[in-house]
Amino acid sequence: MQALCIVGLPPSDLTIYKMILTQCAVCATELGLSLGKKCGRCSTRYCGAACQVQHWKEGGHDQLCKAIKKAGGAEQYNANKMYEAHVAVAAEECAEDTKGQTCYICTQAVHWKTQEGLVRGCACRGTAGLAHVSCLAEQAKILFAEAEENNLDVEVKIERWNRWDTCSLCEQMYHSVVRCALGWACWKTYVGRPEGDGPRCVAMSVLGSGLHDAGHYEDVLSVQEAELAMKRRLGDTEYNILAVQGNIARTYISLGRHEDALRMSRDMYSGFVKLRGEEHEGSLGAACNYASSLFKLERFDEAKSLMHKTIPAARRILGENNDLTLRMRWLYAMTLHRDDDATLDDVREAVETLEETERIARRVFGGAHPLVADFERTLRDARAALRARETLAEAMASTTLGDA
Ligand SMILES: [Zn+2]
Ligand SMILES: [Zn+2]
Ligand SMILES: [Zn+2]
Ligand SMILES: [Zn+2]
Repeated sequence: MQALCIVGLPPSDLTIYKMILTQCAVCATELGLSLGKKCGRCSTRYCGAACQVQHWKEGGHDQLCKAIKKAGGAEQYNANKMYEAHVAVAAEECAEDTKGQTCYICTQAVHWKTQEGLVRGCACRGTAGLAHVSCLAEQAKILFAEAEENNLDVEVKIERWNRWDTCSLCEQMYHSVVRCALGWACWKTYVGRPEGDGPRCVAMSVLGSGLHDAGHYEDVLSVQEAELAMKRRLGDTEYNILAVQGNIARTYISLGRHEDALRMSRDMYSGFVKLRGEEHEGSLGAACNYASSLFKLERFDEAKSLMHKTIPAARRILGENNDLTLRMRWLYAMTLHRDDDATLDDVREAVETLEETERIARRVFGGAHPLVADFERTLRDARAALRARETLAEAMASTTLGDA
């Protein structure tokens, strides 16, 4: 992440362009959402007067303060800069895939205003689905604004809001760098609204998911912790608070903090079950995080028994093509073949499950989706394990025959 932050910025100010602004701009002391001191003009935040003075005199804040204020304050300025940097990264990463093509929204190769290149990060294939992040963002913004202005039904609002993370053509969620750039686009669009504003709250989650998808785990955690603190302070519903905790548990898993993940996902799972029952999507998502932490801690039996219960429910309720269903089945297969006590039948079942989930994921999400790459890797390992087991079984059998 650090490497992305230096675009057009003086090095002394790196710390403030890191994330959502929950830290002192100079010494990075954690301030949460409300502690510390703000610059009276631009709202840049500090732990105290000493850091603020230092920033003005030596950190270049005297030069930047006006520009930050003009952009709408520190948080907005930061979001704008992060957005630009992440769009550049996404366009560069997609350059190969999008070469010689044009945007399906503005019909140009290079964006008329920002000069950015094209991206694609969904299940669209061939020449479909190529666009500029700015064009996708502009569409989402306009569509949602229209729904808000005309006070359209909640379903319509949700459908339009989904444009921030879901392709309208193939109806799959964006992934990796594209989802991350759109996360920043979404956050920069709504960050200026008052704190309790609905879309602003959801935008924070969209940003968090985008950062997670692009692998910026430390940054995700700071966004999610800020989100959790905000929701608690605003007295949000138990369901919404559990949902944020679920995302935090997922981040802990990605960061390798498995004990923390286990503790949090277990609490969340029981919280969701109490609130909505075992078969609700939230409970199933929590179960997946919970099983995943059990797997990482090599508590295979517990992981398996949890998934025996939740996978049939996921297949029935979310469907075979749903990414949570596929992730759970993949996890189950991994648990089967990594377990030291696995029988030959277990390993065979693992390979069969992986072959099927890989096929479905490839069909639904396209070969470029990171999930497909994960499935392929695991399938290769499982096949190798199966071959080794079969060779061993054959050797044993011939030895027995030889003895007889
Ligand atoms: Zn400080
Ligand atoms: Zn200032
Ligand atoms: Zn365009
Ligand atoms: Zn698409």
